[in-house]
Amino acid sequence: MEHIRNFCIIAHIDHGKSTLADRLLQQTNTISERELQAQTLDDMDLERERGITIKSHAIQMDYEQDGKKYTLNLIDTPGHVDFSYEVSRSIAACEGALLIVDAAQGIQAQTISNLYLALEHDLEIIPVLNKIDLPSANPEEVKDQIVDLIGCDRDDILIASGKTGFGVDTILEAIVARVPHPVGDPNAPLQALIFDSVFDSYRGINAFFKVVNGEIKKGDKVKFVNTGRTYDADEIGTLRLKHQPKSVVKTGDVGYIISGIKVAKEVKVGDTITTVNNPCEKAIQGFEDVKPMVFAGIYPVDTDEYEELRDAMEKLQLNDASLTFEPESSAALGFGFRCGFLGMLHMEIIQERLEREFNMTVITTVPNVSYHAYLVREPETKILINNPSDLPEATILERVEEPFIKAQIITKSDFVGAVMNLCIDKRGELKNQVYLTPERVELTFEIPLAEIVFDFYDKLKTISKGYASFDYHPMGYRESKLVKMDLLLNGDQVDALSALIHKDKAFDLGKRICLKLRELLPRQQFDIAIQAAIGAKIIARETVKALRKDVTAKCYGGDISRKRKLLEKQKAGKKRMRQIGNVEVPQNAFMAVLKLD
Ligand code: GDP
Ligand code: MG
Repeated sequence: MEHIRNFCIIAHIDHGKSTLADRLLQQTNTISERELQAQTLDDMDLERERGITIKSHAIQMDYEQDGKKYTLNLIDTPGHVDFSYEVSRSIAACEGALLIVDAAQGIQAQTISNLYLALEHDLEIIPVLNKIDLPSANPEEVKDQIVDLIGCDRDDILIASGKTGFGVDTILEAIVARVPHPVGDPNAPLQALIFDSVFDSYRGINAFFKVVNGEIKKGDKVKFVNTGRTYDADEIGTLRLKHQPKSVVKTGDVGYIISGIKVAKEVKVGDTITTVNNPCEKAIQGFEDVKPMVFAGIYPVDTDEYEELRDAMEKLQLNDASLTFEPESSAALGFGFRCGFLGMLHMEIIQERLEREFNMTVITTVPNVSYHAYLVREPETKILINNPSDLPEATILERVEEPFIKAQIITKSDFVGAVMNLCIDKRGELKNQVYLTPERVELTFEIPLAEIVFDFYDKLKTISKGYASFDYHPMGYRESKLVKMDLLLNGDQVDALSALIHKDKAFDLGKRICLKLRELLPRQQFDIAIQAAIGAKIIARETVKALRKDVTAKCYGGDISRKRKLLEKQKAGKKRMRQIGNVEVPQNAFMAVLKLD
């Protein structure tokens, strides 16, 4: 145990965590030159394409110092606010954290929130000033910021470049010297905390754990304490670039178990593994359940694929404990699931993973936050609304509350005016304004969650030319003047397009949504009337004019291959399209309600 160090790498997005992880893997010869690629640990296609880390990744390294051999378990974590749940679980498996700060960007909003997560779990923090090679690096000023933030000594801050490899040896020395080794009782009954899991279609479920007390041996009969189920530990081992089977994983170490579990629901992240013969008395305190922030329906494009979709979601949930879903049905779309997400990026990622990893073609409906509706009735009755079409009729509705958040924005002083305007436009209220330095300001706002989950972050980045970072925390529900806006296509209300919006914005939004839909709905053989309504009152109307000619008519019957291409193109365009009544509605129409400019 004295030779084990468990640490994670935390930082604001793009400050260089994954790149620095590459250098550590290289320096410790964990991966060869041949195996190395940029951000090696980002092994999902989606992560590589987008250049972001979505999942935490654990890997073990051997390291020798002063003739002593150490085992270092590294966990790389995502930086985006939507994935902070991944970070908090990884932290539970570690004793220390490298807090990476980009020497040009300085401290940003997620630097602070991830630091707090690590401090809550009493991790030893090693601050690292990264990207020191950049000409725009400003090491002295950023060091001041770090000292201010964590109250460390200036000399405690390490200097590195994930690009050139500068300072990587010092980081390894610091990990051994400063991160405490895990503590635990090797002789106690087994207690291992499951912090992550993935589904492997060949081998079943693969759970990642940290042994807190005792040890786990290959072939042990083990029990998952919270679910009460028992399994044989068919294979256990440690996490190298590939799995490395072992006969035993000891106290303090991080490992994996494969035990032929095929049913996703049986493995709960946060559960404790113990042995059947010598069980521990109680489970380790697991993780707080995450609360989804955004809800949307996910429906199979092909209605026959409902059961397949359920199966895919269960498997995906195993790898992403923050995804929630329950069955729902829509008059327009048939059977599907109401899903909860941590944010819009999370929702996009889930949709893409369903398509890539499970070959499903799905439609996601208009996302919304979760509301409280109070009925006119004694005693007071509150219902939770995760789908706008569940909102009770006005006659029995007393009031509606929506969730608010406290938003922290750090930006340059030049952009304060623009940021204020944006927040006020989003129904935000300024609560505090602090100059961190003469050039850097921290603004605190209270804003309805519904206004920020959709495109707020993109807008913020645009108006601040990238010099604004943002973090938020829920602060409860408040009453708001909300109304349900329905959309009708050729007179039929489409439940999947309904949204709850603020009363003062209803007319403007209704008009813009109708215009946007007119642009997005493909023309058909007949006119399509688009109407926005509040209750029985129509507030806006547009028409998609009928198509006059057949698309292939353009080809004059001559070039057959061109004709076929055109038809194929049309077919591909149809992929994410649902027939609602007699109107074909493409996926992006469901997002139109959110992205109006
Ligand atoms: P993460 O989001 O914190 O994991 O950041 P990544 O490791 O994915 O890096 C983000 C971007 O910064 C990538 O384009 C990297 O190539 C670049 N980068 C990372 N470390 C350094 C560094 O030390 N110097 C320079 N100049 N660029 C770096
Ligand atoms: Mg990364």
